Amino acid sequence: MKYNGTIYRPPIEANTFLLPITEGCTHNSCTFCNMYQGIPFRMLPLSEVEDYLTETKQSYGRYCERIQRVYLVGADPFALSARNLLESLLLLGHSLMKT
Ligand code: SF4
Repeated sequence: MKYNGTIYRPPIEANTFLLPITEGCTHNSCTFCNMYQGIPFRMLPLSEVEDYLTETKQSYGRYCERIQRVYLVGADPFALSARNLLESLLLLGHSLMKT
């Protein structure tokens, strides 16, 4: 998966796993923010989320078992329907949290 956007990670969240499920921002008009300028909003298809999780598992292997916290990223993950969010979370659980 090739993520198209800016990743914001506060230092205190250095060990948090970031799972992109959207790109861009649905609003993208706040005058103080340029994080997603030029990046159209899109919801990532479940297949891309799955590819990202597979690549993560292949790269980090057993370290995935240590994941304590996950952030869903892209500016607006809650633009997804409850069903799509649930599908992404179930995929996450099956892909990384179990070995
Ligand atoms: S990411 Fe947040 S702050 Fe930036 S334009 Fe979108 S709603 Fe505004």
